[in-house]
Amino acid sequence: AIVPGMQEESGKAVTGGILITFTDITELKRLEQVRKDFVANVSHELKTPLTAINGFSETLLGGMISSEDIGLFSKIINRNARQMQGIIDDLLLLASLEDDHAALTMKRCTLEELVKETCEDTSYRANSRSVILTTTVHDENGRGVMVNPSLLVQALVNLVINAITYSEPGSEVRIKAEGDQDTVTFSVMDQGSGIPEKHLTRIFERFYRVDKARSRNQGGTGLGLSIVKHVVSMHGGQVSVQSVENLGSTFTITIPREQKFMQSFKDKSELI
Ligand code: ADP
Repeated sequence: AIVPGMQEESGKAVTGGILITFTDITELKRLEQVRKDFVANVSHELKTPLTAINGFSETLLGGMISSEDIGLFSKIINRNARQMQGIIDDLLLLASLEDDHAALTMKRCTLEELVKETCEDTSYRANSRSVILTTTVHDENGRGVMVNPSLLVQALVNLVINAITYSEPGSEVRIKAEGDQDTVTFSVMDQGSGIPEKHLTRIFERFYRVDKARSRNQGGTGLGLSIVKHVVSMHGGQVSVQSVENLGSTFTITIPREQKFMQSFKDKSELI
């Protein structure tokens, strides 16, 4: 492309010409569509519980209902309000991850302490669903790992809560942490419903669920794995899943032991 008056390398001025620029708008269009879909999804996800809250609270205000129904309706209102709260909390967390604020608080942690905290934060859920949580930690040189502890534990908690949620009572959820020379690996293994193969590549997308009704009934927001993916990327790591329908799933997080800076998202579109 030549711009009128542009200096050539030789120093000679070019006096005429036409500037033609080609911009590939396919990617821009895709991102615009992703943004539109996201806004539509958020609205829909918030509207569903809000409609229930409006409907049941209006019935309560109208009076003329049995005391039994008052209890039931209050419970429904409370459950839906908590669902909205969960979505908003997860969205705010995702937004803060994208702003890279979390980069401020990296700390060396042992694998034991990260696994212990994850268990403490999920044992209530395991108990309430009669799922047995077991842990194995093996870090030969005990050097630990540089992480943002609260974010990494949040990612592990999300995996463990899912493992419990999509398992039957009485089954086992195993958390394993291992360290080798340069990397550490956390895996969360369940004996639950598994995930059909055709969904495996999509479950890390925001609001993507295999079974919408089951997820919502259990208080799921559809954002848990998206948060896991963001947190792991920030630590320069990877998350993967292996699953067999009706046999169970294993989610594996691998992160480098050392990192001077949190990874910032050079290409945010990768994480959408
Ligand atoms: P949700 O809040 O719905 O659990 P997530 O982003 O955490 O959202 O997970 C997305 C979907 O992936 C879930 O709705 C579920 O269908 C599937 N999923 C995630 N973890 C598991 C698991 N351990 N076993 C079976 N299905 C799972």
